Amino acid sequence: MNKIFIVGNWKMNPQTSREAIHLLSSIKTRIENTKKVEVVICPPFVYLAGIGKKKSAKIRLGSQDCFWEEKVAFTGEVSSLMLKDLGCSYVIVGHSERRKYFHESDTMINKKLKSVLGQGLRPILCIDKVSQIKKDIKGIPEKKVKKIILAYEPIWAIGTGKACSFKQAKKFNLSIKRVLGKNHPVLYGGSVSSQNALGYIKEAQFQGLLIGGASLKPKEFVKVIELMA
Ligand code: PEP
Repeated sequence: MNKIFIVGNWKMNPQTSREAIHLLSSIKTRIENTKKVEVVICPPFVYLAGIGKKKSAKIRLGSQDCFWEEKVAFTGEVSSLMLKDLGCSYVIVGHSERRKYFHESDTMINKKLKSVLGQGLRPILCIDKVSQIKKDIKGIPEKKVKKIILAYEPIWAIGTGKACSFKQAKKFNLSIKRVLGKNHPVLYGGSVSSQNALGYIKEAQFQGLLIGGASLKPKEFVKVIELMA
């Protein structure tokens, strides 16, 4: 049976490394049954090393972004190779906040995907339009495309408390699968809570969830994990 992915995107939170370790411990100590669930936590870059050292075997480490080149003069950037070295297994690519505030184009996202896949890590590719997929995966061999986890995140649902209806989300899920194949892993993201989480899996048939705000609330985040188990 395919595992359900529960991915926590901490975004630019919390504000200190001490709080980050505290948040991780509060999640870690609450998680019991993860047999059917792949739990991934994506903290800010600066906390990756610390979280990587303190996390349990039930939690996988993910990054919120990466750069596509491996070395030389790119001030401020972090490569997929560095992320792999820190113990990351997953990298979020093309989050709508990066597309919007940092003007990431499909061409840039395509290069990032190639870099992540080149390191043997799994990208979590965020899209809000099905038309983005073909541009983002251009030139990537089919075998590698299979390693990309898609995350359908309607922009208007992110951080707004207005989650997408299961019916509409399912429609997008099926459209994505028409492009990538019926068994391709697709996650839903956008105002997920313990109240609506199960509906996206059971009714809308997603293979997991990408969670922002609720991943910063240990009780709520673990409740979602337990619901999947
Ligand atoms: C996200 O940041 O990817 C996200 C889905 O955020 P939220 O759960 O807060 O809507």
